[in-house]
Amino acid sequence: MGDKLQVIVVGGGASGLMAAVIAAQNGAAVTVLEQNENPGRKICVTGNGRCNLTNKDMRPEIFRGEHPEIVESVLDQFTLENTIDFFEEIGVAFTDRKGWLYPRSNQAKCITELLVLKCRALKVKIKTREKVEAVSFENGRWKAKTSGWMYEGDRVILANGSKASQVPGSDGSGYEIAKRLGYRIISPLPALTGLKCKGNNFSAWAGIRTDAEVSLKIDGQVLLKESGEVQLTDYGVSGIPVFQLSRFAIRALDDGRRVSLSVNFLPEYTKESLKKCLEKRRELCPYQSDAELLLGLLPDKLIKMFHKQKSDLCQTITEYTLEVKASTGFEQAQICSGGIDTTQVNTKTLESLLHRGLYFAGELLDIDGPCGGYNLQWAWSSGAVAGLYSAKENL
Ligand SMILES: Cc1cc2nc3c(=O)[nH]c(=O)nc-3n(C[C@H](O)[C@H](O)[C@H](O)COP(=O)(O)OP(=O)(O)OC[C@H]3O[C@@H](n4cnc5c(N)ncnc54)[C@H](O)[C@@H]3O)c2cc1C
Repeated sequence: MGDKLQVIVVGGGASGLMAAVIAAQNGAAVTVLEQNENPGRKICVTGNGRCNLTNKDMRPEIFRGEHPEIVESVLDQFTLENTIDFFEEIGVAFTDRKGWLYPRSNQAKCITELLVLKCRALKVKIKTREKVEAVSFENGRWKAKTSGWMYEGDRVILANGSKASQVPGSDGSGYEIAKRLGYRIISPLPALTGLKCKGNNFSAWAGIRTDAEVSLKIDGQVLLKESGEVQLTDYGVSGIPVFQLSRFAIRALDDGRRVSLSVNFLPEYTKESLKKCLEKRRELCPYQSDAELLLGLLPDKLIKMFHKQKSDLCQTITEYTLEVKASTGFEQAQICSGGIDTTQVNTKTLESLLHRGLYFAGELLDIDGPCGGYNLQWAWSSGAVAGLYSAKENL
């Protein structure tokens, strides 16, 4: 160790492991404190166990937050290309699914394993089952208190992640540690998750997966549209298009606004063109009932449901309205929107503007991205930037 700068990383997840590697590569003596029995548990469940670790379409404007300006400087310093090179160097080969990048092994756990192997090779100490309860600056040193020990370092990086998901360790303790140090937290809310809707007849469509276009309306105005495979559930709707809209829907609900979805179950048609299509079908197949005319177009469960409703059939199919009432909760969410207000953070170094020697990385910050590898990219880039500057001698 000798004269090396000592860096403590709180949280051994995606951003914390990346920060540890980069800090160690830049000469620091690094200790990672992880409350779980193993580091990187959330990485292991990403991308349905396959880990969508980044995306070829990487642009700062894709990310969200109250002050997302910070993303540009961070992504500029540790780019998509840097990320690919980094992972190739530690042993990852990539598979490209329409621009979404995965490890060729199709196993998310290889990403955790390879990061941990790299940490070990760089002599990073990973202390597991060490939950940090508080962080403080005393007598010129940063201290991280766990139930049985007080770790000390010259610098500390908070990389606790968010409180989304059922993965152990997603307890939101990072927000509490930061709050006690005086940071403003933008209220964390579930994102990339299903939406509970008003109504009690969803059991009729539960289990259906169908391609549809979903428009999100806030106070009656369309804010965003997403298409893809929608999953119809007993509480409402889920699936990637719904996930993509969810952070806006949930934040708007939290603001007390009226949130609804308009679903087009046949996005290749408008209400008018669907009417024409059905008229033509009726001419061709006069022996088919109204419901039978839809057999080749929609799942049968949906046809049954739509026929029970008295309203205009073509309108029901192309402009199905759902009133959103809630998220499915933090446990079901992949990420949180909200987190540490980025105006309190140096946009170049990710060092706090309130405390010298304290850095932030990952989802703990008020930055989130859509599905597609963006949240991990934020973890890799912000982890790398925090790791780099935390290891620099001159503050
Ligand atoms: C089911 C699921 C699927 C996902 N799929 C994808 C995907 O395919 N692509 C993508 O880009 N993103 C995906 N994400 C999101 C992505 O996993 C996260 O955005 C990313 O892991 C955030 O990295 P992080 O380092 O900020 O937090 P984490 O990876 O959550 O790491 C934080 C770590 O800190 C530890 N910790 C917290 N508090 C303390 C404490 N007080 N003391 C000690 N340790 C502590 C935790 O135990 C945890 O290990 C998915 C998320 C989920 C839940």
